[in-house]
Amino acid sequence: MNRGFRVFLVGFILLAIIFSFSYIYTTQRVDDLKAKKYLEISKEMRNDLELLIREKSEAVLLVCLTLSEDKIVKKIIRTKQYSKLALNNLSSLLQKYTSLDNVWFQIIDDNGVSVYRSWTSQKGDNVASIRLDVAKMIRLPKVMSTISVGKFDLTFKAMVPMSNKYGRFIGMIETLAKFNSLVAKLESKGYETLIVVDKQYKKQLTRSSSGIFINGYYIANPHSNEHIFNILKKRNVNYFTEIDGYKIDERNGYIFTLVKVDGMDNRPMAYFIISKPLSEIDISEIYQTRDNIIKTLVLIFFFLLLFLYIIYNVNYKRFIQQQNEILEYAVEEKTEELQKQSKKMKYLAHHDALTALPNKNLFLDRLKQGIKHAKREHQSLAVLFLDLDRFKEVNDTYGHDVGDELLKNIAIRLLACVREDDTVARIGGDEFTVLLPNANQVSVIKVIEKIFDVMRKPFLLLGVEIHTTFSVGVSVYKQDGENPDILLRNADTAMYKAKDSGKNTYQFYNEKMTELVRKRLELDADIRNGLRKGEFEAYYQPKIDATTLRIVGLEALIRWKHPTKGLLYPIEFIPFAEEIGLIVEIDRYMLEHCVKQLVEWRAVGYNTGKLSINISTKKLESEDFRSELYQLVEKSRVDTKFLELEILESQIMKDPERSIDILRSIRSLGISIAIDDFGTGYSSLSYLKKLPVSQLKIDRSFVMEIPEDEDDAAIVKTIIDLARNLELETIAEGVETEGQVEFLVQAGCHNIQGFYYSKALSKVDCEAFMKKYS
Ligand code: C2E
Ligand code: CA
Ligand code: CA
Repeated sequence: MNRGFRVFLVGFILLAIIFSFSYIYTTQRVDDLKAKKYLEISKEMRNDLELLIREKSEAVLLVCLTLSEDKIVKKIIRTKQYSKLALNNLSSLLQKYTSLDNVWFQIIDDNGVSVYRSWTSQKGDNVASIRLDVAKMIRLPKVMSTISVGKFDLTFKAMVPMSNKYGRFIGMIETLAKFNSLVAKLESKGYETLIVVDKQYKKQLTRSSSGIFINGYYIANPHSNEHIFNILKKRNVNYFTEIDGYKIDERNGYIFTLVKVDGMDNRPMAYFIISKPLSEIDISEIYQTRDNIIKTLVLIFFFLLLFLYIIYNVNYKRFIQQQNEILEYAVEEKTEELQKQSKKMKYLAHHDALTALPNKNLFLDRLKQGIKHAKREHQSLAVLFLDLDRFKEVNDTYGHDVGDELLKNIAIRLLACVREDDTVARIGGDEFTVLLPNANQVSVIKVIEKIFDVMRKPFLLLGVEIHTTFSVGVSVYKQDGENPDILLRNADTAMYKAKDSGKNTYQFYNEKMTELVRKRLELDADIRNGLRKGEFEAYYQPKIDATTLRIVGLEALIRWKHPTKGLLYPIEFIPFAEEIGLIVEIDRYMLEHCVKQLVEWRAVGYNTGKLSINISTKKLESEDFRSELYQLVEKSRVDTKFLELEILESQIMKDPERSIDILRSIRSLGISIAIDDFGTGYSSLSYLKKLPVSQLKIDRSFVMEIPEDEDDAAIVKTIIDLARNLELETIAEGVETEGQVEFLVQAGCHNIQGFYYSKALSKVDCEAFMKKYS
């Protein structure tokens, strides 16, 4: 829950509390107002009644006073001569001309004897003995105006004393009036009034008018007000007599108020229960006020709510904005990281890890762009394909660490030879490429010469000094191709041509080269095919002891009976087979084939001497060579003392320690080892001593010019002496003349191989030769 929302919630709750209190207050206030209104109305009701009572009392008194001045009355009381007729007239006049209904009068003399009663003919009785007020008047004549309860009912009563002309008290006149007219008057004002006389008067009301008592209370006017009378009947009279101010009867819909009249003894005498239907009291104003207040409150509430909402919204927006900012920042950071990572990945994907130069992909991409540009600008473009000469030797001789260092240093030197716009890439082990935009033949040659120049300086790496050179092929857009792959391939082809023509050279591509490549590919497939079909054959060149003219051995030399090209010599396929590794298969083929032949020949008794088989370095170094040899020997049951392997001096000396190991295991099988082409491979004497070899084959190049060439003659002699000292046999190869034979024999080498005795022979021819020379 965010801060904005919390503020909003707290605000809402506070508002709701305030609103609730306001509502309660308002409702209470309405009740107060209602109470006030009721109080006012009840007061008004009471006032009205009290006014009427006073008016009536006064009226009754006035009538009494008027009567006291009346001549007839005066005469009657003075003379005590009663004229009934005159009085009755007076009485009816009174009834007729006053506003008072039911008004009566009585004349009482100074002894308290009732002289005349207008409502009955009874007279002559002494009332002073039963009425305190009359006795009081006789004792102390004084105008009196009271409300009292008599035998009949509750009445207004006024008494006025009368005197003669001497001022002596002679009697009194009393007027009486009932309350009924009062009730009628109140009714015209909308009140209904019930007159109830206190229960202490029950006994006195011996001749009550209505005759209705409830709980001892006398109900003076039950029929003028049935409603209230019925309520009274249901409820206790006390319910009304105890009213203080007003009472609301919600059930029946009335407001009640009470006017209490005390008697002369100050005890309650009569009760006027005044009522008015609630429906006639207009309190709509109050409700309207209340409604207005509530409306205003609701309005304020919603307004504040809106205000809060706006504040909340602003806050919330700010909060969201903050969150967004945080999120944005995080996303930005992550994106940056990813970008960095992808940059790194991109870099790795497009660069060579060792030299940090662009890799093949990037080079091809640049080449593509370069071609586009060249096309647009009608320019040319050159691709240089550089291949290190003898890099493998460096690796084999000094190890991969040195090899890696060499590549790194070469990269640095190459970069120094080109312009900024040019691209130098490493696309393979020891293969580099250079892209030269807008270059012509002259500028290309300049760059190449610059490269050759920087490469002349030896590299000093991890304590060893290394000389290395490049063979470079060049292809040019657009004469040599119009797309990256073709240009690169053609530069590669040109590079091969450069390699063929003697390394540390460069070669511009021409179409004939493609033809060469095509031929190589064909050759590859052809060799494999030939091996499968057994198109290869061994020819055997005899080795002769010049002193005895007997065969001392045979060298197996491979020939290819090609189905379309005829008989092919090793020079036409062995170098290529070495290059692409197929030589391993060829050597295995020859080993199996020749061992089988040897076993056969020995079985039938041919004097073969030692049969020697040429083994390439690749074969020698191949992992399974030893086991292959063991298996072959075991399987064929060949007599290994007639078996010899020829290994090139240059190959053995590459890694003499390792060679010693392999050669020992060959030797342990009883197989002899001859060092081929001896004299060309810079043998180290110390190693020569350790190697388990039995024969040195003096290379043909030294034999060719002897005895004429003194240098060669000296070399040959030296080799022969060396071999004798090391207790090794020697054999000279490529011997073609008698002079050569003579020289060699004299020098101490009587084993001769060469055309002088025989070229390499087919199986059949060799068998004939063996028969002849054994
Ligand atoms: P290499 O081992 O030095 O074999 C001797 C080569 O000298 C053979 O050529 C042979 O015919 C030739 N030769 C012998 N006497 C004379 C001579 O008096 N005058 C001249 N001009 N040449 C003579 P070839 O058979 O063409 O073999 C060439 C090379 O091919 C061999 O040189 C050997 O290195 C390789 N080679 C031949 N057969 C095999 C093979 O089965 N396996 C392997 N790995 N290499 C083989
Ligand atoms: Ca050989
Ligand atoms: Ca040789």
